[in-house]
Amino acid sequence: MDSIKKWLPRLADALFPRRCPFCGALLGADALQGTVCPACVPEEMRLQHIPPRLPEGEHSFYALSQAAAAYYYADTVRSAILRCKRGGSPWRARELADRMAVLVFGALPARRVGGLPQYLGVAMLPLYNCIVPVPPRQPLPGVPGLPLLLARRLGQVLRIPVETPLSVRPGTRPQKELSRDERLQNARGAFVCQPGADLTGKRVLLVDDIITTGATASACALALLQAGATDVTVAAVAVAEELPKEKRKKTK
Ligand SMILES: [Zn+2]
Repeated sequence: MDSIKKWLPRLADALFPRRCPFCGALLGADALQGTVCPACVPEEMRLQHIPPRLPEGEHSFYALSQAAAAYYYADTVRSAILRCKRGGSPWRARELADRMAVLVFGALPARRVGGLPQYLGVAMLPLYNCIVPVPPRQPLPGVPGLPLLLARRLGQVLRIPVETPLSVRPGTRPQKELSRDERLQNARGAFVCQPGADLTGKRVLLVDDIITTGATASACALALLQAGATDVTVAAVAVAEELPKEKRKKTK
């Protein structure tokens, strides 16, 4: 049984070789940290959000203890995320989650292409008790959304269980049609925990693909706190913030 467990992932990697999440190129031994192809490295580094922790002044965070993102939502990162939307590219979601593990949670990059990043968190004292994905507003039946795919992979790396207690309150308008103030108003109360969901005493890691105003993450956190969670931190692949000057693309 153990040998099957060991060989199955290798077989899967042989049948479905790992690819760069940004351009889709097959990854070779020269991939940066086992995930990014050499051609995409400069862009990937340019778009990293360093440090990953998000400044509170620029977003509307309430009910959240902390917020972090691996990248700025721009250019090649933006197109990678858009390709994963609506469940479009599960393998890309896995690679993006691995980048989050490294850039946000300080996991050691996989030693080889296809390996799992190594998270050295203290096993006896988990930082979080569970991972909860932000639920999709317009779910496609049977298709896991990007936050759920990210949460599953991060759960594997950080060794914490994934729970899905949140759902969208029926009748809520989609955020993208709205202005910043409208978003805040619309999001508040837009998420509920399913009846019976008990998060008493749990520290929750909330996972989303993009943080725009923070309104969605904050509203989810509020629902989680109401279900008994003691503490909610949100982590996303990317944040929609203006790129710092030195990170902007140079135009001639
Ligand atoms: Zn690439």
